[in-house]
Amino acid sequence: MTITRKNPAPKVKGAIAQRGTDSYAIVPRLPSGVITADQLEALAKAIRQYDIPIAKLTSGQRIALVGIKADDVPAVWAGLGMGEGRAVKHGVHYVQACPGNAACGYGQQDSLGLGARLEEMFNGLDLPAKVKVGVSGCPMCCGESYVRDIGLVGRKNGWTVVFGGNAGGRPRVGDELAAGLDADAALALVGRVLAHYRDNARKCQRTARFVEARGIASVRAALDLPETLAEAAAQD
Ligand code: SF4
Repeated sequence: MTITRKNPAPKVKGAIAQRGTDSYAIVPRLPSGVITADQLEALAKAIRQYDIPIAKLTSGQRIALVGIKADDVPAVWAGLGMGEGRAVKHGVHYVQACPGNAACGYGQQDSLGLGARLEEMFNGLDLPAKVKVGVSGCPMCCGESYVRDIGLVGRKNGWTVVFGGNAGGRPRVGDELAAGLDADAALALVGRVLAHYRDNARKCQRTARFVEARGIASVRAALDLPETLAEAAAQD
């Protein structure tokens, strides 16, 4: 890949300027990392045709195509026929999901199905900061649910909803808000906690910092949840 210093690079719609180069990256949308044969073929064709030097699987279960010439960006997008996966403003950046009971012997819940519904529900939602979601089909948590802003963990009795996790430079293990929920109830609770976060967090305040500042007891009270999970179980 040729590095040509041009600073700052002009903006190109649907692409991210690569610092210190005259090339761009794009991130096609792949909900929960699920990809079809047609999409794989389209990606391979674009990589060859436009001589794209780097195709990178990201931690958010997307594919970044890096090193595209500015003039090629529109044609690459047109050939792929895929939506954009990069969040362009504060909101849900990605939903990552493990294979769950569709493809893993340990799976206790349908993490891919719930991940798809989460993508659908929260795509484009405006929030104070970026929000990452991790969905795991069993407590082994391959979807990294406890270190995502919103986490869902499948257990035999249903979904556990986790809030306020972070895997960045100041990692935090998220707090469990409720357990034993069916998919509809889990999605409803995710919607409520995101609305509370949207209405009360400072701009750019990630959920982990929001929970640290407010305390999880305050979040639970605002959502009308019992003070602890044990108390919730006793009420069932
Ligand atoms: S979290 Fe559980 S269901 Fe999901 S991939 Fe890991 S072991 Fe399988």
